[in-house]
Parts: sequence; C-alpha cells; structure tokens
Amino acid sequence: MGDYLIRVLPKKFNFRAFGVCLTQAVDEARRLQNLSPVATAALGRALAGVALLSADLKFGKVFMQIKGDGPLKEILAEANHEGHLRGLVRNPQVDLPPKNKKLPVGLAVGQKGFINIIRDYGLKEPYQGSIALVSGEIAEDLAYYLTVSEQVPSACALGVLVDVDGKVLQAGGYLIQKLPEATEEEISYLEEKLRNYPPLTTQLQAGKSIEEILTELLGEIEILEKRALYYKCTCSLERVEETLLALGEKELTEVLAEGIPLMVTCNFCQKAYEVPIERVKELLKYLREKDHA
Ligand code: ZN
Repeated sequence: MGDYLIRVLPKKFNFRAFGVCLTQAVDEARRLQNLSPVATAALGRALAGVALLSADLKFGKVFMQIKGDGPLKEILAEANHEGHLRGLVRNPQVDLPPKNKKLPVGLAVGQKGFINIIRDYGLKEPYQGSIALVSGEIAEDLAYYLTVSEQVPSACALGVLVDVDGKVLQAGGYLIQKLPEATEEEISYLEEKLRNYPPLTTQLQAGKSIEEILTELLGEIEILEKRALYYKCTCSLERVEETLLALGEKELTEVLAEGIPLMVTCNFCQKAYEVPIERVKELLKYLREKDHA
C-alpha cells in the first residue's frame, strides 16, 4: 500500500478529520537530500502537515514555511491537489542525538521563529497567514496556527519513525477540527481522549493504520475521500530559467562572463539542469529588451 490521505467524518461527533500515511514520500525526501535522522523527522512532519492541509484542495497547493532559531534554519514543504509533495530543510546534515529515544525536532527547529502557511487555490490572491512558533515540534505549532490564525479549533499529531540506519519506518499524521455545531461536551470529550492517548509514533510503531487510530479517537468514522500521495517535484527547465531571469541583468552578465554553462541543481529533488551559455545570452537579451521597452 502506497502513501495516502483520507478525509473523514466521525459518525457520532461534530468534528471533521484528516489522516495521512506518507512513509514512502518521507523516505524518498531523505534519500534524495541525504537527510540526517532529525532532519528527516522534521521534514517528514512538515510534509505530513501540508498534506493534511491539502485535503480540502480541489485545485492549487498549500505551502508551509517554518523558520526557527535552531540549526535546521528553515523548512519548506508543499502539497498540491494531485497529491504531489515536496519539501526541503535548509541545513539537511544537522545531527542531534535522540533524547529519551525521541529525535529532538523542537531543538533542531528552534522555539523562536514563525510558521507561515500559504493556501493557493489558483484563483485571485493566495490566502496567507503566519504565527510565532509555540514549540518547534511542528504539530503543536500547526494546531496553534489553525486555531488562532484561521480560527478553527484544531488538534494535530505528526509522527515520523526513523530506523537506526536512517531509513523511514513510518510517517503519518492526523488533524481533527471542530465543526461549528460541536458542543462543549464533545470538545471536552476529545480533549480528554487526546490527553490519555499514546504518542502517534508509538501507535504507528505498533502497526496501527491511520484509519484505526482515528477510529480509536473518534469512534465509527466515514471515509469521504482517499487520495494517493507521492513525493514528486514540480521543477522544470522552464522554472529554472524563470529563476535566472529573476536574478536580473547584473548577475546574468557575471554568469556570461565566466563563459561556462550554468549548472543549477534543484534543492527539492537534486535534479541537475544545464543551461548552455547560448541560452544565458538569450535570457540576458530578453531582460535588456524588456528593461528598455
Ligand atoms: Zn526538483
């Protein structure tokens, strides 16, 4: 069974829920970017987070940026309506030893900083919001963001289990959100349930599926939609050239002066693009004509 995302309605409660299993996608990110265990756990949680947020998308993409004062520096993660995921950490080799058998994601991300979410539905202006980090553990930060910034009370758990050799054994997450009709009793019930529920990684390690976990938390559930997920980059030569154009005339002139083809490597998937010198010339010509038009 490959990676997937589910959209769920509990039968007895006025909540909605989303679940994600993305072990293969996180392992693919680890392999492509040669991520350390703690970087794998951090990026895996961020990818699980954006995947959960993408569940509502009919079109477009969700983008998450986490910038903290920890050694990972920055995490970017993206999910689109086709179930394509990609992401990166600025400092992929940061290696912090486990604390109480847990990879210290909060330490690697840092407690000071912000989480920024962009929902781009492909129409008008993208919706954007940003909030200060609570713990750098990502699930807590995302739940706080959704509750405060988007004003939808939310509970979130994200878990990545990394093997001793660095490979990803399990990666998953869930998000439970209050519907307007939810009563105080329902909310108290769920809060109590979540307080006493074992950590997500423990449950995943025990071999439970995300459906089973959501059923344990919410009782009988109806799965409204199930969507496959893949680690898939959206880079292309065209995008690389757009980036080059964005550098501007001065930078491109310097590239040209060096007289060698330009090699650009995508940070998300490590694909290398070669831009021949003739093409750099054409791009520069285009920029100059545009500037003087
Ligand atoms: Zn790429």
